[in-house]
Amino acid sequence: MAARSILILPGDGIGPEVVGVARQVMQRAAVDSGLELKVSEGILGGVAIDSAGTSLPEDTLEAARASDAVLLGAVGGPHWDDLPMDQRPEKGLLGLRAGLGLFANLRPALSFAPLAQASSLKSELVAGLDILIVRELTGGIYFGEPRGVELINNERVGRNTYVYAEHEIERIARVAFELAGKRTGRLCSVDKANVLEVTQLWREVVTRTAQDYPDVELSHMYVDNAGMQLVRAPKQFDVLVTGNMFGDILSDVAAMLTGSLGMLPSASLGATGQGLFEPVHGSAPDIAGQDKANPLATILSVAMMFRYSLECGAAADRIEAAVDQVLARGLRTSDILTRGAATGMREVGTSEIGDAVLRALETGDER
Ligand code: NAD
Repeated sequence: MAARSILILPGDGIGPEVVGVARQVMQRAAVDSGLELKVSEGILGGVAIDSAGTSLPEDTLEAARASDAVLLGAVGGPHWDDLPMDQRPEKGLLGLRAGLGLFANLRPALSFAPLAQASSLKSELVAGLDILIVRELTGGIYFGEPRGVELINNERVGRNTYVYAEHEIERIARVAFELAGKRTGRLCSVDKANVLEVTQLWREVVTRTAQDYPDVELSHMYVDNAGMQLVRAPKQFDVLVTGNMFGDILSDVAAMLTGSLGMLPSASLGATGQGLFEPVHGSAPDIAGQDKANPLATILSVAMMFRYSLECGAAADRIEAAVDQVLARGLRTSDILTRGAATGMREVGTSEIGDAVLRALETGDER
Protein backbone atom coordinates (compact mmCIF):
# COMPACT_ATOMS: atom_id res chain seq x y z
CA MET A 1 0.00 0.00 0.00
CA ALA A 2 1.25 3.52 -0.82
CA ALA A 3 2.52 5.64 2.06
CA ARG A 4 -0.20 7.71 3.75
CA SER A 5 0.59 11.35 4.45
CA ILE A 6 -0.09 12.87 7.83
CA LEU A 7 0.24 16.55 8.71
CA ILE A 8 0.89 17.33 12.35
CA LEU A 9 -0.08 20.73 13.74
CA PRO A 10 0.96 20.88 17.41
CA GLY A 11 -0.39 24.42 17.94
CA ASP A 12 -0.14 26.26 21.26
CA GLY A 13 -0.09 25.68 25.01
CA ILE A 14 -0.22 21.97 25.85
CA GLY A 15 -0.67 21.17 22.13
CA PRO A 16 2.99 20.31 21.47
CA GLU A 17 3.18 18.17 24.64
CA VAL A 18 0.11 16.02 23.93
CA VAL A 19 0.81 15.78 20.22
CA GLY A 20 4.44 14.77 20.87
CA VAL A 21 3.25 11.78 22.89
CA ALA A 22 0.43 10.90 20.46
CA ARG A 23 2.82 11.04 17.50
CA GLN A 24 4.95 8.28 19.03
CA VAL A 25 1.84 6.16 19.56
CA MET A 26 0.79 6.82 15.95
CA GLN A 27 4.15 5.75 14.60
CA ARG A 28 4.26 2.61 16.72
CA ALA A 29 0.73 1.59 15.68
CA ALA A 30 1.57 2.20 12.01
CA VAL A 31 4.65 -0.04 12.17
CA ASP A 32 2.61 -2.79 13.85
CA SER A 33 -0.02 -2.51 11.10
CA GLY A 34 2.47 -2.49 8.22
CA LEU A 35 1.35 1.04 7.26
CA GLU A 36 3.93 3.45 5.94
CA LEU A 37 3.33 7.02 7.11
CA LYS A 38 4.85 10.15 5.60
CA VAL A 39 4.69 12.60 8.49
CA SER A 40 5.27 16.35 8.20
CA GLU A 41 4.76 19.19 10.64
CA GLY A 42 3.23 22.64 10.19
CA ILE A 43 2.17 25.71 12.13
CA LEU A 44 -1.32 26.87 13.06
CA GLY A 45 -2.77 29.26 15.63
CA GLY A 46 -0.74 31.50 17.93
CA VAL A 47 2.58 30.00 17.00
CA ALA A 48 1.79 30.78 13.34
CA ILE A 49 0.79 34.37 14.19
CA ASP A 50 4.16 34.86 15.91
CA SER A 51 6.28 33.39 13.15
CA ALA A 52 4.27 34.00 9.95
CA GLY A 53 1.94 36.86 10.87
CA THR A 54 -1.26 34.85 10.30
CA SER A 55 -3.01 32.05 12.19
CA LEU A 56 -3.43 29.94 9.04
CA PRO A 57 -0.48 30.33 6.68
CA GLU A 58 -1.13 29.35 3.05
CA ASP A 59 1.59 26.64 3.32
CA THR A 60 -0.28 25.02 6.19
CA LEU A 61 -3.58 24.92 4.30
CA GLU A 62 -1.89 23.53 1.19
CA ALA A 63 -0.09 20.84 3.18
CA ALA A 64 -3.36 19.95 4.92
CA ARG A 65 -5.20 19.63 1.60
CA ALA A 66 -2.48 17.34 0.29
CA SER A 67 -2.54 15.02 3.31
CA ASP A 68 -4.72 12.01 4.13
CA ALA A 69 -5.18 13.17 7.69
CA VAL A 70 -4.27 16.04 9.99
CA LEU A 71 -3.48 15.62 13.68
CA LEU A 72 -3.98 18.83 15.66
CA GLY A 73 -3.13 19.72 19.27
CA ALA A 74 -4.92 22.93 20.28
CA VAL A 75 -4.66 26.62 19.55
CA GLY A 76 -4.93 29.84 21.53
CA GLY A 77 -3.78 31.35 24.79
CA PRO A 78 -3.63 34.60 26.77
CA HIS A 79 -0.70 35.86 24.72
CA TRP A 80 -3.05 36.39 21.74
CA ASP A 81 -6.27 37.28 23.62
CA ASP A 82 -6.04 41.01 22.90
CA LEU A 83 -5.97 40.61 19.12
CA PRO A 84 -9.12 41.49 17.17
CA MET A 85 -11.52 38.54 16.73
CA ASP A 86 -10.63 37.91 13.08
CA GLN A 87 -6.89 37.75 13.80
CA ARG A 88 -6.98 35.36 16.76
CA PRO A 89 -5.52 31.83 16.77
CA GLU A 90 -9.00 30.19 16.76
CA LYS A 91 -9.70 31.86 13.42
CA GLY A 92 -6.96 29.67 11.92
CA LEU A 93 -8.68 26.52 13.13
CA LEU A 94 -12.05 27.59 11.74
CA GLY A 95 -10.33 28.47 8.44
CA LEU A 96 -8.66 25.07 8.32
CA ARG A 97 -11.95 23.22 8.90
CA ALA A 98 -13.69 25.29 6.23
CA GLY A 99 -10.75 25.04 3.81
CA LEU A 100 -10.84 21.24 4.02
CA GLY A 101 -14.64 21.08 3.60
CA LEU A 102 -15.10 19.07 6.78
CA PHE A 103 -18.85 18.69 7.20
CA ALA A 104 -19.12 15.74 9.59
CA ASN A 105 -17.99 16.01 13.18
CA LEU A 106 -17.66 12.74 15.10
CA ARG A 107 -17.58 12.89 18.87
CA PRO A 108 -17.50 9.54 20.65
CA ALA A 109 -18.42 9.24 24.30
CA LEU A 110 -16.48 6.22 25.39
CA SER A 111 -16.40 5.36 29.05
CA PHE A 112 -13.38 3.37 30.09
CA ALA A 113 -14.42 1.07 32.93
CA PRO A 114 -11.60 2.19 35.26
CA LEU A 115 -12.87 5.79 34.97
CA ALA A 116 -16.58 5.11 35.52
CA GLN A 117 -16.34 6.80 38.94
CA ALA A 118 -15.17 10.07 37.35
CA SER A 119 -18.58 10.59 35.69
CA SER A 120 -21.20 12.86 37.18
CA LEU A 121 -23.68 10.00 36.71
CA LYS A 122 -23.87 6.77 38.71
CA SER A 123 -21.11 4.50 37.49
CA GLU A 124 -23.51 1.68 36.47
CA LEU A 125 -25.19 4.08 34.02
CA VAL A 126 -21.94 4.85 32.24
CA ALA A 127 -19.65 1.82 32.68
CA GLY A 128 -18.96 0.44 29.20
CA LEU A 129 -20.74 3.35 27.49
CA ASP A 130 -19.82 3.66 23.81
CA ILE A 131 -21.88 6.14 21.82
CA LEU A 132 -21.02 8.28 18.83
CA ILE A 133 -22.53 11.67 18.04
CA VAL A 134 -22.39 12.70 14.39
CA ARG A 135 -22.89 16.45 14.08
CA GLU A 136 -23.35 18.40 10.86
CA LEU A 137 -20.61 21.00 10.95
CA THR A 138 -20.89 23.45 8.09
CA GLY A 139 -24.58 24.41 7.89
CA GLY A 140 -27.63 25.07 10.02
CA ILE A 141 -28.25 28.09 12.18
CA TYR A 142 -24.55 28.86 12.79
CA PHE A 143 -24.07 29.75 9.13
CA GLY A 144 -27.57 30.62 7.85
CA GLU A 145 -28.31 33.97 6.22
CA PRO A 146 -29.78 36.49 6.88
CA ARG A 147 -28.23 37.07 10.25
CA GLY A 148 -27.37 40.04 12.42
CA VAL A 149 -28.81 42.70 14.66
CA GLU A 150 -30.66 45.66 13.16
CA LEU A 151 -32.71 48.61 14.37
CA ILE A 152 -36.42 48.15 13.71
CA ASN A 153 -39.00 50.58 15.15
CA ASN A 154 -36.38 52.04 17.49
CA GLU A 155 -35.32 48.78 19.06
CA ARG A 156 -32.62 46.30 18.16
CA VAL A 157 -33.80 43.02 16.69
CA GLY A 158 -31.51 40.00 16.41
CA ARG A 159 -31.95 37.34 13.76
CA ASN A 160 -30.37 34.06 12.75
CA THR A 161 -31.57 31.65 10.11
CA TYR A 162 -31.87 27.91 10.56
CA VAL A 163 -31.45 26.52 7.07
CA TYR A 164 -30.58 23.12 5.59
CA ALA A 165 -30.78 22.02 1.96
CA GLU A 166 -31.66 18.40 1.18
CA HIS A 167 -28.17 17.55 -0.09
CA GLU A 168 -26.61 18.75 3.18
CA ILE A 169 -28.95 16.57 5.21
CA GLU A 170 -28.48 13.56 2.97
CA ARG A 171 -24.67 13.63 3.03
CA ILE A 172 -24.44 13.79 6.83
CA ALA A 173 -27.15 11.11 7.10
CA ARG A 174 -25.11 8.83 4.83
CA VAL A 175 -22.02 9.27 7.02
CA ALA A 176 -24.10 8.34 10.07
CA PHE A 177 -25.77 5.32 8.41
CA GLU A 178 -22.38 4.01 7.25
CA LEU A 179 -20.96 4.36 10.76
CA ALA A 180 -24.00 2.79 12.41
CA GLY A 181 -23.76 -0.11 9.95
CA LYS A 182 -20.21 -0.78 11.13
CA ARG A 183 -21.23 -0.63 14.81
CA THR A 184 -24.38 -2.11 16.34
CA GLY A 185 -26.65 -1.01 13.48
CA ARG A 186 -28.74 1.50 15.42
CA LEU A 187 -29.08 5.15 14.44
CA CYS A 188 -31.11 7.81 16.22
CA SER A 189 -31.75 11.04 14.33
CA VAL A 190 -32.36 14.04 16.58
CA ASP A 191 -34.55 16.96 15.48
CA LYS A 192 -37.30 19.31 16.61
CA ALA A 193 -39.77 18.32 13.91
CA ASN A 194 -42.77 19.19 16.09
CA VAL A 195 -41.85 22.88 15.88
CA LEU A 196 -39.29 23.62 13.15
CA GLU A 197 -40.05 23.10 9.45
CA VAL A 198 -36.36 22.82 8.65
CA THR A 199 -36.13 19.78 10.91
CA GLN A 200 -39.32 18.32 9.42
CA LEU A 201 -37.35 18.30 6.18
CA TRP A 202 -34.40 16.82 8.10
CA ARG A 203 -36.60 13.95 9.33
CA GLU A 204 -38.05 13.37 5.86
CA VAL A 205 -34.64 13.23 4.17
CA VAL A 206 -33.10 10.99 6.85
CA THR A 207 -36.09 8.61 6.56
CA ARG A 208 -35.77 8.54 2.77
CA THR A 209 -32.00 7.89 2.99
CA ALA A 210 -32.67 4.97 5.35
CA GLN A 211 -34.04 2.97 2.41
CA ASP A 212 -30.44 2.53 1.20
CA TYR A 213 -29.40 1.07 4.56
CA PRO A 214 -31.87 -1.73 5.33
CA ASP A 215 -29.55 -3.22 7.97
CA VAL A 216 -29.60 -0.06 10.10
CA GLU A 217 -32.48 0.44 12.50
CA LEU A 218 -33.47 4.13 12.38
CA SER A 219 -35.31 5.97 15.14
CA HIS A 220 -36.14 9.66 15.61
CA MET A 221 -36.13 11.70 18.79
CA TYR A 222 -36.90 15.33 19.62
CA VAL A 223 -33.85 17.18 20.88
CA ASP A 224 -35.33 18.01 24.29
CA ASN A 225 -36.05 14.34 24.92
CA ALA A 226 -32.59 13.36 23.60
CA GLY A 227 -31.00 15.68 26.18
CA MET A 228 -33.02 14.00 28.92
CA GLN A 229 -32.35 10.47 27.72
CA LEU A 230 -28.61 11.10 27.49
CA VAL A 231 -28.42 11.72 31.21
CA ARG A 232 -31.18 9.20 32.17
CA ALA A 233 -30.10 6.10 30.25
CA PRO A 234 -27.24 6.90 27.85
CA LYS A 235 -26.52 3.27 26.98
CA GLN A 236 -29.78 3.08 24.97
CA PHE A 237 -27.95 4.95 22.15
CA ASP A 238 -25.38 3.81 19.64
CA VAL A 239 -25.01 6.47 16.90
CA LEU A 240 -26.87 9.80 17.03
CA VAL A 241 -27.02 12.14 14.05
CA THR A 242 -28.11 15.75 14.28
CA GLY A 243 -27.65 19.28 12.97
CA ASN A 244 -24.97 21.76 13.90
CA MET A 245 -26.51 23.50 16.94
CA PHE A 246 -28.20 20.47 18.53
CA GLY A 247 -24.99 18.49 17.96
CA ASP A 248 -22.90 21.18 19.61
CA ILE A 249 -25.01 20.98 22.75
CA LEU A 250 -25.63 17.23 22.89
CA SER A 251 -21.99 16.33 22.28
CA ASP A 252 -20.95 18.41 25.28
CA VAL A 253 -23.62 16.73 27.41
CA ALA A 254 -22.40 13.32 26.24
CA ALA A 255 -18.82 14.37 26.89
CA MET A 256 -19.49 14.90 30.56
CA LEU A 257 -20.85 11.36 30.87
CA THR A 258 -17.31 10.11 30.47
CA GLY A 259 -15.72 12.29 33.14
CA SER A 260 -12.90 14.45 31.87
CA LEU A 261 -12.07 16.83 29.07
CA GLY A 262 -8.64 15.21 28.94
CA MET A 263 -10.19 11.97 27.65
CA LEU A 264 -12.27 13.26 24.72
CA PRO A 265 -11.17 12.77 21.12
CA SER A 266 -12.87 14.07 17.98
CA ALA A 267 -12.76 13.73 14.22
CA SER A 268 -14.03 15.96 11.44
CA LEU A 269 -14.45 14.33 8.05
CA GLY A 270 -14.93 15.63 4.54
CA ALA A 271 -16.32 14.07 1.40
CA THR A 272 -13.15 12.19 0.47
CA GLY A 273 -12.53 10.48 3.79
CA GLN A 274 -9.84 13.00 4.62
CA GLY A 275 -10.03 13.99 8.26
CA LEU A 276 -8.90 16.35 10.98
CA PHE A 277 -8.32 14.64 14.31
CA GLU A 278 -8.02 16.62 17.52
CA PRO A 279 -8.73 16.46 21.23
CA VAL A 280 -11.87 18.33 22.32
CA HIS A 281 -9.98 20.34 24.94
CA GLY A 282 -8.21 23.64 24.36
CA SER A 283 -4.60 24.69 24.88
CA ALA A 284 -4.87 24.71 28.71
CA PRO A 285 -2.38 27.56 29.23
CA ASP A 286 -2.68 27.12 33.02
CA ILE A 287 -0.77 23.83 32.87
CA ALA A 288 1.26 24.23 29.68
CA GLY A 289 4.92 23.22 29.86
CA GLN A 290 4.53 21.47 33.23
CA ASP A 291 4.22 17.83 32.09
CA LYS A 292 0.72 17.78 33.61
CA ALA A 293 -1.49 17.56 30.52
CA ASN A 294 -3.46 14.41 29.88
CA PRO A 295 -2.43 13.19 26.40
CA LEU A 296 -5.07 10.44 26.21
CA ALA A 297 -7.63 12.55 24.29
CA THR A 298 -5.02 13.14 21.59
CA ILE A 299 -3.95 9.48 21.63
CA LEU A 300 -7.61 8.47 21.23
CA SER A 301 -7.86 10.99 18.35
CA VAL A 302 -5.01 9.07 16.71
CA ALA A 303 -7.08 5.90 17.14
CA MET A 304 -9.94 7.65 15.32
CA MET A 305 -7.50 8.61 12.56
CA PHE A 306 -6.60 4.96 12.00
CA ARG A 307 -10.28 3.96 12.05
CA TYR A 308 -11.78 6.68 9.86
CA SER A 309 -9.07 8.04 7.53
CA LEU A 310 -6.52 5.22 7.29
CA GLU A 311 -9.06 2.35 7.13
CA CYS A 312 -7.18 0.46 9.82
CA GLY A 313 -9.72 -0.33 12.52
CA ALA A 314 -7.47 -2.99 14.04
CA ALA A 315 -4.84 -0.36 14.92
CA ALA A 316 -7.56 1.82 16.47
CA ASP A 317 -8.74 -1.11 18.59
CA ARG A 318 -5.17 -1.79 19.76
CA ILE A 319 -4.61 1.86 20.77
CA GLU A 320 -7.90 1.97 22.71
CA ALA A 321 -7.04 -1.32 24.40
CA ALA A 322 -3.64 0.06 25.40
CA VAL A 323 -5.27 3.15 26.95
CA ASP A 324 -7.73 0.96 28.83
CA GLN A 325 -4.92 -1.20 30.12
CA VAL A 326 -2.90 1.76 31.40
CA LEU A 327 -5.97 3.11 33.22
CA ALA A 328 -6.72 -0.33 34.68
CA ARG A 329 -3.17 -0.34 36.11
CA GLY A 330 -4.09 2.81 38.05
CA LEU A 331 -1.99 5.38 36.18
CA ARG A 332 -3.70 8.79 36.23
CA THR A 333 -2.86 12.33 35.15
CA SER A 334 -4.14 14.80 37.75
CA ASP A 335 -7.36 15.63 35.83
CA ILE A 336 -8.62 12.02 36.07
CA LEU A 337 -7.38 11.19 39.53
CA THR A 338 -10.48 10.51 41.64
CA ARG A 339 -9.49 11.42 45.12
CA GLY A 340 -10.90 9.39 47.95
CA ALA A 341 -11.34 6.27 45.86
CA ALA A 342 -7.66 6.44 45.02
CA THR A 343 -6.44 3.06 46.21
CA GLY A 344 -3.99 1.62 43.74
CA MET A 345 -3.89 4.80 41.70
CA ARG A 346 -0.74 6.72 40.97
CA GLU A 347 -0.49 10.29 39.69
CA VAL A 348 1.82 10.60 36.71
CA GLY A 349 2.73 13.23 34.13
CA THR A 350 2.20 13.55 30.39
CA SER A 351 5.33 11.71 29.35
CA GLU A 352 5.00 8.86 31.84
CA ILE A 353 1.42 8.01 30.90
CA GLY A 354 2.39 8.32 27.22
CA ASP A 355 5.31 5.91 27.71
CA ALA A 356 2.97 3.49 29.49
CA VAL A 357 0.55 3.52 26.52
CA LEU A 358 3.48 2.89 24.17
CA ARG A 359 4.65 -0.06 26.25
CA ALA A 360 1.12 -1.48 26.43
CA LEU A 361 0.91 -1.17 22.67
CA GLU A 362 4.25 -2.96 22.26
CA THR A 363 3.25 -5.85 24.47
CA GLY A 364 -0.07 -5.96 22.63
CA ASP A 365 -2.20 -7.12 25.57
CA GLU A 366 -5.89 -7.03 24.71
CA ARG A 367 -8.61 -5.38 26.75
P1 NAD B 1 -9.19 24.39 27.95
O1 NAD B 1 -9.84 23.16 27.41
O2 NAD B 1 -7.89 24.74 27.38
O3 NAD B 1 -9.02 24.21 29.55
C1 NAD B 1 -10.12 24.10 30.45
C2 NAD B 1 -9.62 23.44 31.76
O4 NAD B 1 -9.38 22.05 31.52
C3 NAD B 1 -8.30 24.02 32.26
O5 NAD B 1 -8.29 24.01 33.66
C4 NAD B 1 -7.26 23.03 31.76
O6 NAD B 1 -6.09 22.96 32.57
C5 NAD B 1 -8.02 21.71 31.77
N1 NAD B 1 -7.57 20.83 30.70
C6 NAD B 1 -7.83 20.96 29.38
N2 NAD B 1 -7.21 19.98 28.68
C7 NAD B 1 -6.57 19.23 29.59
C8 NAD B 1 -5.75 18.07 29.48
N3 NAD B 1 -5.47 17.50 28.29
N4 NAD B 1 -5.23 17.55 30.60
C9 NAD B 1 -5.50 18.11 31.79
N5 NAD B 1 -6.27 19.19 31.97
C10 NAD B 1 -6.79 19.75 30.87
O7 NAD B 1 -10.25 25.59 27.78
P2 NAD B 1 -10.07 27.14 28.09
O8 NAD B 1 -9.26 27.33 29.33
O9 NAD B 1 -11.41 27.70 28.00
O10 NAD B 1 -9.24 27.73 26.85
C11 NAD B 1 -7.83 27.92 26.82
C12 NAD B 1 -7.42 28.35 25.42
O11 NAD B 1 -7.70 27.27 24.50
C13 NAD B 1 -8.19 29.56 24.91
O12 NAD B 1 -7.30 30.36 24.19
C14 NAD B 1 -9.24 28.95 24.01
O13 NAD B 1 -9.67 29.84 23.01
C15 NAD B 1 -8.50 27.78 23.42
N6 NAD B 1 -9.35 26.67 22.95
C16 NAD B 1 -8.91 26.02 21.85
C17 NAD B 1 -9.61 24.92 21.37
C18 NAD B 1 -9.06 24.19 20.19
O14 NAD B 1 -7.92 24.41 19.81
N7 NAD B 1 -9.81 23.28 19.61
C19 NAD B 1 -10.75 24.47 22.04
C20 NAD B 1 -11.16 25.14 23.20
C21 NAD B 1 -10.44 26.24 23.67
